[in-house]
Amino acid sequence: MAKELHCRDVGPDCDAVVVAESDEDVLAQVAAHAKDAHGMTDEQIGDPDFVAHVKNQIHDKA
Ligand SMILES: [Zn+2]
Repeated sequence: MAKELHCRDVGPDCDAVVVAESDEDVLAQVAAHAKDAHGMTDEQIGDPDFVAHVKNQIHDKA
């Protein structure tokens, strides 16, 4: 089952949707997107609270 994350569910008003085969792959893509599109730093992206927040919003793709 593919996993899906809507960027706007994590915070920013953003239409990006990440789809991947596992939570880990979603997180990797979100990290790249957060850097490119939202100017987040490695420190912010690696923050355990941020990672947990993102993981909470990952759901199975309908
Ligand atoms: Zn975004």
